[in-house]
Amino acid sequence: MKLAVVIVPTIASTDAPCSALSVIYTPEGVFESYLILPKNPDLVLVDTEVVAKAPARLLVAGMGDALATWFEADACAKASAKNMPGGNASQAALALARLCYDLLIECGKRAKLAVEMNVATEDVEKVVEANTLLSGLGFESGGLAAAHAIHNGLTALEETHHYYHGEKVAFGTLVQMIMENRSTEELEEVLEFCVSVGLPVTLEQIGVTEISPEKIRKVAEMSCAEGETIYNMPFPVTPDLVYNAIMAADAIGKDFLAK
Ligand SMILES: [Zn+2]
Repeated sequence: MKLAVVIVPTIASTDAPCSALSVIYTPEGVFESYLILPKNPDLVLVDTEVVAKAPARLLVAGMGDALATWFEADACAKASAKNMPGGNASQAALALARLCYDLLIECGKRAKLAVEMNVATEDVEKVVEANTLLSGLGFESGGLAAAHAIHNGLTALEETHHYYHGEKVAFGTLVQMIMENRSTEELEEVLEFCVSVGLPVTLEQIGVTEISPEKIRKVAEMSCAEGETIYNMPFPVTPDLVYNAIMAADAIGKDFLAK
């Protein structure tokens, strides 16, 4: 109807509010498609006092969604892949995505502790900005890659439906990092962050208690569906590569938790 749109999120659990994108799921919770909207909202208004009174797990899930932003934008930049509206990513988009990541690492744990007490602090302000604005601008202008495609694949498993988008995206980020063969230092920084705020690092932590090759293959194949953002990675991607990376990420997550 071409009307002005004002969004007032009362939680900061995804980067959807600032974007011109809606994710369509089936009534059962399986990813169906991305709906690209004609424009971004005219105003997004977040009251951090309200966000701080919501369950802490929701803010943490938002951090999981925001965690992927830098890694996906970076992968798109390396591949010269198009961003969400089909343009080229600017240096500004990459800088926003990186700031998003840096704020999570710096303030994430402290923000989580504050909202557990239902209070808004400077850390909460910064994390809400990272989760809502920076991640939103970052993914839309920088582009999505493997982390979100793996999230979409994970929705094929019914047992993951009780876990939030950002929780599955956090695990998808770990899988993407394995696909990219990122350094131990980078991987451990992300693992440490996830564990410190309570984001999942294993399949079991997103509800997949019984892991079978058939199930993981289904996830890998759905992650590689035609038109998926996984093809924005700077190397050829096959379901085999994704399958191997999921299994390895799970093992690495388990190993990290056992330390
Ligand atoms: Zn997301």
